[in-house]
Amino acid sequence: MRAITAFRTARMTPSLRAALGFVVATAVAGAARRARALSPSGAVAAVLVGTAAVAAGWDWGALLIAFFVASSLLSRVRRGEKAAAAGAIAAKGDERDAVQVLANGALFALAALGYACAPGAAWQAMGGGALAAATADTWSTEIGLLAPRPPRSIVTLRPVPPGTSGGVTALGLLGGVLGASFIQIVAVLCHWPLGAAVAVVVGGVAGTLADSLFGALAQQRRWCDGCGAATERAVHACGQPTRIVGGIPWLDNDGVNALATLAGALAAASLVGRL
Ligand SMILES: [Zn+2]
Repeated sequence: MRAITAFRTARMTPSLRAALGFVVATAVAGAARRARALSPSGAVAAVLVGTAAVAAGWDWGALLIAFFVASSLLSRVRRGEKAAAAGAIAAKGDERDAVQVLANGALFALAALGYACAPGAAWQAMGGGALAAATADTWSTEIGLLAPRPPRSIVTLRPVPPGTSGGVTALGLLGGVLGASFIQIVAVLCHWPLGAAVAVVVGGVAGTLADSLFGALAQQRRWCDGCGAATERAVHACGQPTRIVGGIPWLDNDGVNALATLAGALAAASLVGRL
């Protein structure tokens, strides 16, 4: 017991924490790899993000693990139904690759490195806001796919097929707010300043709304000529290459996710000092 207390209260340098964080992150990413939640490249990216997080502090590491575990578990809830609802449209499977991990985690990792160098509430709001945006987006997608009615475009309000970028449901929006609140609760439990924690939830909700808007207005749209169907895949489920029929050609779903975490980080950081 005394040893644990000593470990907790010991003032570790960021570089020592980074070394320990590397060990912990490698273990967690290895377990996630075995559970098929991460691809090999995704596991490498997760180790980088995890190491940066723990360099900032164990609280940052706890936030990252909370995000990852909750999102992975949520994606396994009623998986069959969700795959049936979105399988025709979604770009990628369950294993997250490096691009997906970094689209969700790169800004959080950069804010963690900033905090490790010069601790301050602005870095916490920025990193927490980015992570809350990624969480809100994941939760709104996972929970929204269970909605009984098809989503509606956030822009035109017309019904769109489940899984369509920019499509929202009331259940999905609620899921996004719950996801952002979950990160805020973990931040409060980690004794983050209340202002930063409140900024985090605002950033999360702003990020998920930005995700839907960018998804509806800017994301590339693909079409499979063979099936006559919209998709996010470069190669359709039927095996035929798809073509881009609208949106910004280079802006795919991962790019939209990265922009959403940026919106979440900026929204949260802009509130620091005003709460
Ligand atoms: Zn097809």
